[in-house]
Amino acid sequence: MNVDSAGQPRTNWAGNITYGAADFYRPASISQLQGVVARAAQIKVLATGHSFNDMADSPGAQVSLADLIPDVEVDSTAGLARVAAGLSYAQLASRLDDKGFALRNMASLPHISVAGACATATHGSGLANQNLAASIAALEFVTADGDLVELSRGDDSFPGAVVHLGALGVVTRLVLETVPSFEVSQWVYEGLPLEVLDDHFTEIMSSGYSVSMFTDWRSPRLTQIWIKQLHDDPNPYAAPIPLAATAPPVAEAPWFAATPATGERNPVPGAPAASCTAQLGVPGRWYERLPHFRPDFTPSAGDELQSEFLLPIEHAAPAIHALNQISDSLAPVTLISEFRVVKADELWLSPSYRQDAVAFHFTWIPDMAAVLPVVTLIEQQLAPFAARPHWGKVFTATPETLHARYERLPDFLALARQYDPAGKFRNAYTARYLGR
Ligand SMILES: Cc1cc2nc3c(=O)[nH]c(=O)nc-3n(C[C@H](O)[C@H](O)[C@H](O)COP(=O)(O)OP(=O)(O)OC[C@H]3O[C@@H](n4cnc5c(N)ncnc54)[C@H](O)[C@@H]3O)c2cc1C
Repeated sequence: MNVDSAGQPRTNWAGNITYGAADFYRPASISQLQGVVARAAQIKVLATGHSFNDMADSPGAQVSLADLIPDVEVDSTAGLARVAAGLSYAQLASRLDDKGFALRNMASLPHISVAGACATATHGSGLANQNLAASIAALEFVTADGDLVELSRGDDSFPGAVVHLGALGVVTRLVLETVPSFEVSQWVYEGLPLEVLDDHFTEIMSSGYSVSMFTDWRSPRLTQIWIKQLHDDPNPYAAPIPLAATAPPVAEAPWFAATPATGERNPVPGAPAASCTAQLGVPGRWYERLPHFRPDFTPSAGDELQSEFLLPIEHAAPAIHALNQISDSLAPVTLISEFRVVKADELWLSPSYRQDAVAFHFTWIPDMAAVLPVVTLIEQQLAPFAARPHWGKVFTATPETLHARYERLPDFLALARQYDPAGKFRNAYTARYLGR
């Protein structure tokens, strides 16, 4: 029976999904994993369970990679790291940093597994930063019949296989591009009127290596702007865009109409900042500043739901107006909302496929019945901008809409049929959203 170590039915991190898979496996070697996959009728990987929907569930079994050897091999000359798929970013980051290497970017929380994050095109922010999966140079996976396959950049199907929703097989190792390790400092500004974004959205987003804007929709203003700056600018792997002339040099004076925060902040106004990465310009290692939350603060379960929608960055200002029109519906169910930017990539199922994107994120109260109608309302408001949902969060789009927004979806489904002809890695999620 599929229960956790406390004997409770297994759930995702947010607790809104109780997995229905009857069996649960924890193979201790890749050959054991190959046997588990080959024998299963239906199977899906459960990684760190940080998705807010049932994409990691299966009508058969779930498999965890937590007992595989967590190896990290760095090829210093090529700047490539070959990493075990079960590792979290928090586990990987310090090991890379010890060897003098870094990842270009990270998501808001470092406790998410590398393979699970890349499977859904998880992203951070930055005009020059692509999603996290874009740093994959090769991936190794176990296919439905138990074979081990490796695909690398340059292989025809590689761009289709990197963001895979767990539908192609079980990823065992990833080869990630790295950069030399670096330091980042972080500043927070408060109280910018939304109308300033009409003319200055890209300028403000270009004021740091990675910038996040937050609002609670309770008034037409950004509650906070988090600016993560490379400590030793100019930096060889900084944005190939000039930092804006209006960038706040040191957070001492008002900037546009925003004021520098006088203490450390949590993105959720009023929530304690102890779980957040250091601010007020104190420099620190890349992995202790790029996420909003500290690696040594491990939330075991979440009291929230999340949704996120990405659309072409040139529509950022009108899309913010479209969302602000429904602020009366958003505010009661929103804990906090975040705007980020993601550079275009070539990955077929990436929401930033061939478009520099703005990402509108919503952290919701943990009440699905209250949240779902608002998610549908957002989808209607953002439909004119052809918004693409984050695969790992709450959304209600139909397969028809997703086919219209993801032009390479038919090619991806053909790839899934090639590696998984009998549908071993299908589940209710793939049936609902991909029509497969
Ligand atoms: C608090 C919090 C903060 C977040 N912050 C961000 C953020 O900043 N940016 C962002 O874009 N997203 C964010 N997310 C969303 C999160 O990154 C994605 O949902 C991600 O996919 C979760 O990864 P996981 O390892 O927990 O995967 P799971 O939920 O365990 O699995 C996700 C999918 O990947 C598949 N999968 C996982 N590992 C493998 C593998 N080895 N082989 C094959 N398939 C596999 C699973 O079967 C499933 O289909 C956040 C989520 C939470 C809870």
